[in-house]
Amino acid sequence: MAGSKKQGQAWQAGGGNAVRTRANVAPWRWMALAALGAAVTLTLPPARAADAYPAKPITMVVPFAAGGPTDVVARTMAAAMSKTLGQSVVVENRLGAGGTVSAAYVAKAAPDGYTILIHHNGMATAPALYSKLSYKPLTDFSFVGQVADVPMTLLGRHDLPAKTLPELITYIRQNQGKVNLANAGLGAVSQLCGMLFQKAIGVELTAIPYQGTAPAMTALLGSQVDILCDQTTQTLPHIKADKVRLYGVTTSSRIKALPETSTLAEGGLKGFEVKVWHGIYAPRGTPPAVIDRLNGALRTALKDPAVAARLADLGAEIVPEDKQTPEGLRTWLKSEIEKWSPIIKAAGVKAD
Ligand code: ASP
Repeated sequence: MAGSKKQGQAWQAGGGNAVRTRANVAPWRWMALAALGAAVTLTLPPARAADAYPAKPITMVVPFAAGGPTDVVARTMAAAMSKTLGQSVVVENRLGAGGTVSAAYVAKAAPDGYTILIHHNGMATAPALYSKLSYKPLTDFSFVGQVADVPMTLLGRHDLPAKTLPELITYIRQNQGKVNLANAGLGAVSQLCGMLFQKAIGVELTAIPYQGTAPAMTALLGSQVDILCDQTTQTLPHIKADKVRLYGVTTSSRIKALPETSTLAEGGLKGFEVKVWHGIYAPRGTPPAVIDRLNGALRTALKDPAVAARLADLGAEIVPEDKQTPEGLRTWLKSEIEKWSPIIKAAGVKAD
């Protein structure tokens, strides 16, 4: 249908000339010409767009502070994707409101492939947290693909008296109203993880929001906050250097990077599971040929042994190939919105 409409428009665009040309040539010729015309009409614009793209640097918008876990994944991908795209991919950190400032910005950017977003679970949790969200995650974006999954760890400041998860729970119960928990704002996975932790132990903690877990980690290392739940992409070096207390990993099974560490579920918090996933998005209406280029660069990056080694070092796991596709990301985002919205609503957490 779309093809025949475009063909009709092509003939009309030629006005009288198009009609005369059609009348003066043998039927088989004009049919061949019409077919050729339709093919040219249908294939040239995307092909041209793909050939010309990218003609200038691309901005990859990151919703959280530089140096933090999302930023690390973003910079690794930006550097690798720029090799395939032949243009720099410049990382821009646009902070605020648990990641929603960046998502709103990209949703309204020109759909030309020069402004893209990398985001995590916050893309799926924001609709339940923010009643006045200015974008719709499922319909205001074109999807590029998923990148990697990252486990989280529950950490305490190094001088917190509690050394194990049961000790931490007892300490929190004995010090109600005095223990605080850092996060990266409503919409951040640190907040989601903290919310599940508080629900699981039945005690409310004082939230201290930062604009990313990079500054939150600095506060934890300086003993200005008590607890932080954060991705291994940032926490592994501090755990290995023994600069923080480690209470468990948030995944349903133990992780390769910390094989000796129990899961929070094993530690007694039944069913506890949070895993951080990352997707790359463009504004809705980005031409399919441009999405193809971006997706090709994403998939090539994830096959790059240097990228694989870097991500593995940080405890991240590259997603299977079927998730590295636009449809893989869209389907996953939908399932995550369906998973988290009722949990957040039941917890009664609201940003506005
Ligand atoms: N780890 C953060 C979060 O809690 C985000 C970040 O700073 O990368 O969502």
